[in-house]
Amino acid sequence: DDTGVPGRVRVAVRLRPRNAEERVADADFPDCVELQPEVKRLKLRKNNWDSDTYEFDELLTEFASQKRVYEVVAKPVVESVLDGYNGTVMAYGQTGTGKTYTLGQLGEEDTAARGIMVRAMEDILADVSLETNSVSMSYLQLYMETIQDLLNPTNDNISIVEDPKSGDVSLPGATLVEIRNQQSFVDLLRLGEAHRFAANTKLNAESSRSHAILMVHGKLVIVDLAGSERIDKSGSEGHTLEEAKSINLSLSALGKCINALAENSAHVPVRDSKLTRLLRDSFGGTARTSLVITIGPSPRHRGETASTIMFGQRAM
Ligand code: ADP
Ligand code: MG
Repeated sequence: DDTGVPGRVRVAVRLRPRNAEERVADADFPDCVELQPEVKRLKLRKNNWDSDTYEFDELLTEFASQKRVYEVVAKPVVESVLDGYNGTVMAYGQTGTGKTYTLGQLGEEDTAARGIMVRAMEDILADVSLETNSVSMSYLQLYMETIQDLLNPTNDNISIVEDPKSGDVSLPGATLVEIRNQQSFVDLLRLGEAHRFAANTKLNAESSRSHAILMVHGKLVIVDLAGSERIDKSGSEGHTLEEAKSINLSLSALGKCINALAENSAHVPVRDSKLTRLLRDSFGGTARTSLVITIGPSPRHRGETASTIMFGQRAM
């Protein structure tokens, strides 16, 4: 247990199961990765004979339950938040690999499927007495370097304010809603998701092209990052090109901050993007940050899977 010890981000890899289409279309081909959770290694297949091996803090196979994923990826972070530290959980990966399933699944019909956000709030509410304390949340979307309020869509350009002395970040324009119980939290997540869908439809953007950021005041931050897939910039123009540039900018800025932590560098370059400015407190001395890298098994996406794995490796 390294709670409170400054330093690197803990990195877990989660492999999602093959979906129905992949089970048929890729039936004759092996998965592009093999996870060896006992030895915390991942093998990325190069060809029929050869593979590269990478080490991670945790490996979550396609059989890992949502409960297990919560316990490995988020529970230690939630516990340190309850002890008064800043905690952050982020999911990084190609669109369709399970970031939202891992973090945001509400699991109302199937409680076993509940994701990290819902489980984290359960643990927080079990620990905090609402008679003497309050728990509140903001829910934001960061799209093209603009922060939008998912709890109040008319708030579509929120600014980040940094305390000149402490450097702490705050978002005075963001709606802060008090959570009365678990159900009210789930309702707020659902409302935020609906607003996100509506806002993106208006902007003609996919949800996968923006970052969704849940902030629970105390302070826990959960970030469902924009899809990491490379957009072919040569074939894109106008809006799509600007969007691609903006996602590349924020994800590479995030990568640089995480690398700086991994290398124990005195300088963490948080100023390069709104995402990293917003996450500034996550890179501080006593912050505890956990990154879950989501990957799919399909041999067709080997290239994207390889670049996702490299992002995670640079954080180690
Ligand atoms: P992303 O947010 O990375 O784009 P999603 O979370 O939307 O990906 O997942 C894509 C699809 O795969 C969804 O239908 C989701 O329910 C399913 N899925 C993802 N991960 C898992 C998993 N571990 N087990 C079962 N289904 C999963
Ligand atoms: Mg998603």
